[in-house]
Amino acid sequence: MTLDVMETIEQHESVVRSYIRTFPKPFDKAQGVRVYDTDGYAYLDFFAGASVLNYGHNNPELKKPLLDYIQSDRIVHSLDMASVARAEFLEAFNRLILEPRGLHYRVQFPGPTGTNAVEAALKIVRKVTGRHKVLSFTNAFHGMTVGSLAVTGNAFKRRGAGFPLTYSESMPYCGYFGPEVSTLEYVDKLLDDKGSGIDQPAAMIVETVQGEGGLAACTMDWLKGIEEICRRHDILLILDDIQTGNGRTGPYFSFEEAGISPDVVTLSKSISGFGLPMALTLVKPEHDIWEPGEHNGTFRGHNLAFVTAKRALELYWSDDALQRETERKAERIHQALQALIDKYPAAGGEHRGRGMMRGIRFTADKELASTVSDVAFEHGMIIETSGPDDDVLKLLPPLIIDDADLEAGLAIIDRALGEALHKRGLA
Ligand SMILES: *Cc1c(COP(=O)(O)O)cnc(C)c1O
Repeated sequence: MTLDVMETIEQHESVVRSYIRTFPKPFDKAQGVRVYDTDGYAYLDFFAGASVLNYGHNNPELKKPLLDYIQSDRIVHSLDMASVARAEFLEAFNRLILEPRGLHYRVQFPGPTGTNAVEAALKIVRKVTGRHKVLSFTNAFHGMTVGSLAVTGNAFKRRGAGFPLTYSESMPYCGYFGPEVSTLEYVDKLLDDKGSGIDQPAAMIVETVQGEGGLAACTMDWLKGIEEICRRHDILLILDDIQTGNGRTGPYFSFEEAGISPDVVTLSKSISGFGLPMALTLVKPEHDIWEPGEHNGTFRGHNLAFVTAKRALELYWSDDALQRETERKAERIHQALQALIDKYPAAGGEHRGRGMMRGIRFTADKELASTVSDVAFEHGMIIETSGPDDDVLKLLPPLIIDDADLEAGLAIIDRALGEALHKRGLA
């Protein structure tokens, strides 16, 4: 008797499960930009594990050193004791990422998920400044543990905490009031004004593209302005590059073009390159004032993830070939999305995002993006929605996708949008 995968999960797993409802098939194999269900049916993956799989599924160049490592009985779990794999990752990250960019950070390994990296960031900025409050932005997403939820915008997710979320305050993100209104002036004025009712915060936490919050992208001028405000008011700046980092927007860090120097940077998702859990909190040496063990955890740095992470850096970040390819494909995606917006005016589409993290917000019908995702799934594509109303169709293909698969995916989206408009009575 073969196990009924969907039935077994339905019977035993908590109802909290989520993506399985959007993509209700039993998956088994995966390679490159495709995943396969148990019937062997292939799906083009334009979600890439929410940007965990920037280098594709089961990348053979990363799988090989991983298998070699396990095969030779090298150490897998070592808490945060010294291991060769740990040192080799740190050396490669410094040599290939930090030094060439003139960035000076100490690497902290929090627990292995993104929200662990954010919790560590929130703790250290409070410890350094002695202040409590952290400013976040409208539609921000920083994770599901309570510290991260306190700086997350989404009301539904915030409610899950079950008690009031405190020591945070939400400010309007870039473009929140439309392109005419500068939210920088608003934030700056509130911080200047002794009557504003805003206590001086420890830090601001910001994303350069709001991956979960609807793909709003800030301009590099806005980002520079945020850094200036932080410096002027003696506030630390946390840049959450968990989804946008590792080349998703083109450069390794999504903030490079702005030339800013955030005090804390969080990375996770694609840092291991292979889909193994791993997260980093980068802190400036002068802020690295932890007591040993003050932020501890069992899985802080996993040797298997170090092995694939180091190899991914060597493979993809020894030169700028991947960045240039990402920027080229990003332009093609931008152009294709604009063509869809023009082709289907009834959808009321607006372009969102940057780099290979783009999408369309449909203003005509809040259900349209989800319907496109459903229809695309029937046509063999995994593609997610984003935003508090799930009204943004979000394209996150692996960065290594080739032109033929990219075009195939864009064609499925075109067809799915046409069909979804019919289904929703808009065409
Ligand atoms: C995914 C994400 C997180 C949380 O990461 P988890 O691994 O789910 O805890 C935090 N910030 C951003 C910007 C993210 O995209």
